[in-house]
Amino acid sequence: VNRLQRLAPINSISQELVRFDTQALQNPEISGVAYQQGELAGYEVREYLLEKWHRICAYCGAQHVPLKIEHIQPKSRSGSNRVSNLTLACRSCNQRKGNQPIEVFLAHQPERLRRIQAQAKAPLRDAAAVNATRWALFEQLKATGVPVTTGSGSQTKYNRQRLGIPKTHALDAACVGQLTALHGWNIPTLAIKATGRGCYQRTRLNRFGFPRGYLIREKRVKGFQTGDRVIAEVPKGKKAGTHLGRVAVRASGRFNLQTATGLVQGISHRHCRVLQRADGYGYAFTPTQTEAARPVG
Ligand SMILES: [Zn+2]
Repeated sequence: VNRLQRLAPINSISQELVRFDTQALQNPEISGVAYQQGELAGYEVREYLLEKWHRICAYCGAQHVPLKIEHIQPKSRSGSNRVSNLTLACRSCNQRKGNQPIEVFLAHQPERLRRIQAQAKAPLRDAAAVNATRWALFEQLKATGVPVTTGSGSQTKYNRQRLGIPKTHALDAACVGQLTALHGWNIPTLAIKATGRGCYQRTRLNRFGFPRGYLIREKRVKGFQTGDRVIAEVPKGKKAGTHLGRVAVRASGRFNLQTATGLVQGISHRHCRVLQRADGYGYAFTPTQTEAARPVG
């Protein structure tokens, strides 16, 4: 946060503290929050159910399939919208069960029936036990002096889908917490990647541990250092054109450039100009639509 504050003014912080908000559910097993698609409570209920039923179809045990929220006792037979009457089922089980009471649907599987009925009544105990690390992070964020608010993972998802924002790492972060609107989000993202400042090892080894090659002792070659951000204007030849990226120096004076589009090898130092000195981080603007680079900072 301190580092980012040097780059941009930060007025407040929203932290995604929990996956789903049990406060918003108001003790779901007891008070019986009505489940409604498309509302925040609906998202919280869905995340809660996914956790409670281990993300599998309660009737056939199918994994990694889209799951529908399912009334154990159908609504047409006065089944409630309470969380204790909800489970998750795959599409085909959901359709096969239809309006049948669960006792009829699972008449041939008494063991599974008993298990589902028992699990439906058991509240998710550890839902309240939030990951201690996140609370430690929360305290650290507060210590920066910037106002901190918290939200839940389902709230993030709710905001993102309600506002029609694509799912990328950066935009997900922008959707955390209480949000009425998000303006001007369709802009490139500055991705900061920790690259280090090089290593001490000067001998490259083969897989048997024998020396394969030796690296130069000097970090600088012709005034350039690996990690510098460089622009190269090559007037002619196979690599003619303008290249911009992170340089890797070679003793020969012919460098490699890691650009946004790929690696360009063997660029003479004479065509290169430093834009930014290496500081142990790589900086790159990535378009909003891709998730190619995951920001570290
Ligand atoms: Zn199923």
